[in-house]
Amino acid sequence: MKHAPESSTCGTRGQQAKLGLRRASLILLLLLGCLWCTPAPQAADTDLPPASSGLSSPTPPTATAPVPVPEASPKALRYYRGNMILWGVNTLLGFLIPIVLLATGLSGRFRDGARRVGRRWFFVIAVYFALFSLFLALVQLPLDFYSGYLREHAYGLSNQTLGKWFGDAAKGLLITILVGPLVLWLPYLLLRRAPRSWWLISGLLALPLLILMIFVTPLWIAPLFNDFGPMKDKALEREILSLADRAGIEGSRVFEVNKSVDTKALNAYVTGFRDTKRIVLWDTLIAALDREETLFVMGHEMGHYVLNHVWQLLIVYSCVILLTLYAAHRIAPPILARYGNRFRFTELHDIASLPLLLLFLQATTFVLTPPLNAFSRHLERQCDRFGIEITRNPVAAATAFVKLQQENLGNPRPGWVYRIWLASHPPLGDRIDFCNSYHPWTKDRPLKFESRFRTRKTAP
Ligand SMILES: [Zn+2]
Repeated sequence: MKHAPESSTCGTRGQQAKLGLRRASLILLLLLGCLWCTPAPQAADTDLPPASSGLSSPTPPTATAPVPVPEASPKALRYYRGNMILWGVNTLLGFLIPIVLLATGLSGRFRDGARRVGRRWFFVIAVYFALFSLFLALVQLPLDFYSGYLREHAYGLSNQTLGKWFGDAAKGLLITILVGPLVLWLPYLLLRRAPRSWWLISGLLALPLLILMIFVTPLWIAPLFNDFGPMKDKALEREILSLADRAGIEGSRVFEVNKSVDTKALNAYVTGFRDTKRIVLWDTLIAALDREETLFVMGHEMGHYVLNHVWQLLIVYSCVILLTLYAAHRIAPPILARYGNRFRFTELHDIASLPLLLLFLQATTFVLTPPLNAFSRHLERQCDRFGIEITRNPVAAATAFVKLQQENLGNPRPGWVYRIWLASHPPLGDRIDFCNSYHPWTKDRPLKFESRFRTRKTAP
């Protein structure tokens, strides 16, 4: 749960290709990363125009020339190529590290140590998981430090101090060590008690667990890494709230997060239910975008919220988990029958099997990432449409994407490997093209989401 540092570069999907375990515990956060959104190079949410120009007297986009897609600078291209290499290395390590843990018997030794210290079943799991997490953190430290700190500073994308980077990394590790056993005990108990149906029960229980994480993360986890304060620009806050009202999101609070201490990347999201509903803007976004661009971004984010994208993604990811567990259920026994002695465990219900389960998760996510990304891009396109329709300001949308590209060193026209395995959002060039072409109201064509908007306010 290395929450903070990762979200700071969420745009650079290359760096998100994290290792198995982290990916496991973070499957949700990654998800949220794409829908809550953000990020950097390609992603991005944008926003729209409000009260005066947007809501009451929309700017006719056709009155303005299309916003050109800027060429990627040589520096941005270097950054992009580096991201691709990092993605390749991280993906490879995601397979390699669990294999090494298994083949050398190291995972079995961790379990032996955990038995000596923990004694009781649950504590054996907890101690094993702590050893395992520490091992992963140490092995990954050099690459994480390079990609999350040194490289980001070298490219001018981060303001984070060394102390904050290590502090966040330590906090993330501690949260992982504390939360992991609370999740893991159940499938391991089921593996013993219900050896035939453990995968089905665990897979079905993943959904409520993911929902709980979505609920808990913004309230209790994210504030451990950054300060969530009231928005300073009260006029903009009023416009955002009135936009939210129009989108059908009432009674939410607006927070400004001091992400500028970590990164120069831009981000915003809408999350929570009922009383915990919140609209969150990174201070970097407020500083980089003008009012209308900010409103488009917020319109996009509100689209994710009102179109229930979180729920759709939760269901999709629960299916991925279910599929992974089923694959492990069917395929792991013959593997253990053959290599169990070398692994130092012969049963899947042994906690030492955790790297094996993670290997399955790594394999299913790698194979399923292209269709999952395609689905995510579809949702993002919906929200770009939503943001443009509610603000009726495609020009601000396009210029917001241009700024995102420049601020985050994005590549507007990435290659096919990126498009297939890394692009959870449409490439920025495609998004700017879409903004330039989407203004149905000028042609008297129906708007896709207009029926969902509350009545347009009249200008004072
Ligand atoms: Zn989005």
